Amino acid sequence: TNKFKEGLSKTRDAFVGKVEDLFSRRKKIDEAFYEELEEILIGADVGINTVLKLIDELRVEVRKRKIEDPKELRPILTEKLVELLSGGEETERLKTAPDGLTIYLVVGVNGVGKTTTIGKLAHRLKQDGKSVLLAAGDTFRAAAIEQLEVWGQRAGVDVIRQGQGSDPAAVIFDAVHAAKQRNVDVLICDTAGRLQNKVNLMEELNKIFRVIRREVPEAPHEVLLVLDATTGQNALQQAKLFGEKTGVTGLVLTKLDGTAKGGIVIAIRQEMELPVKMVGLGEKIDDLQPFDSEQFVNALFL
Ligand code: GDP
Repeated sequence: TNKFKEGLSKTRDAFVGKVEDLFSRRKKIDEAFYEELEEILIGADVGINTVLKLIDELRVEVRKRKIEDPKELRPILTEKLVELLSGGEETERLKTAPDGLTIYLVVGVNGVGKTTTIGKLAHRLKQDGKSVLLAAGDTFRAAAIEQLEVWGQRAGVDVIRQGQGSDPAAVIFDAVHAAKQRNVDVLICDTAGRLQNKVNLMEELNKIFRVIRREVPEAPHEVLLVLDATTGQNALQQAKLFGEKTGVTGLVLTKLDGTAKGGIVIAIRQEMELPVKMVGLGEKIDDLQPFDSEQFVNALFL
């Protein structure tokens, strides 16, 4: 919980004061109250559609429960935000194979924090007692392979790699076999994130997907799309692009520590109907947290 509070401090600073002020200053729930709340939420990048939906739901509650004092509405707002964010306990957790090898495919645009996230995730899984292997599936950039090696060393896990320019699907094929041979618990596959040629990239990702599925029929257990929370609505565009084309099952939102607009998590959750599985709250190896909608909202409001 503290990690959440610390990591979300920018959003908190920008948001909580305003909300507190609104709920204590206003003495009744009128149009001016709703308008101000709307403004605050939009300012935090919660997204216009979500804000309108939320305000509508609050109006219904106010009528139904005959609420007059804004203070009484505050816990209901928190409750509604948690509701909007959560896809239920189950979907927020990373899926794993019932037994045998679990495979995660990690996709996203260059620079969003994909490599860092893979390193952090490897570290987390190792701390949970799992054995982990990484696959350097971004063969487009030499630097990507090197970066993954660096994170592999930090986390103390091996990286299966080939040279720059080699077929990414072949690297993944090798990695799946190595993972099986070594009896590894979790294989995490990096992929390319160049956007100059979207069609080509989507085809590449689909080929990787098919190779994995052919080797392990129920895999990949998750296709995680990494998004940079500081890019706001841009992140939403990327979510739409990848979500439609690559069978994404969950989102990882990075750099939440670097934005005052953490409400983007709520917007993306709503627009994409994809669960947020994890959030990045810093650059260090232990700055990746499993997402918990209740903790998230509490970190913002309490
Ligand atoms: P990739 O191109 O998607 O693989 O991106 P990288 O993993 O290389 O990360 C790009 C930059 O974002 C690096 O400077 C990372 O340290 C930084 N970064 C990644 N995740 C986070 C995060 O959660 N918080 C902060 N503040 N920086 C992050």
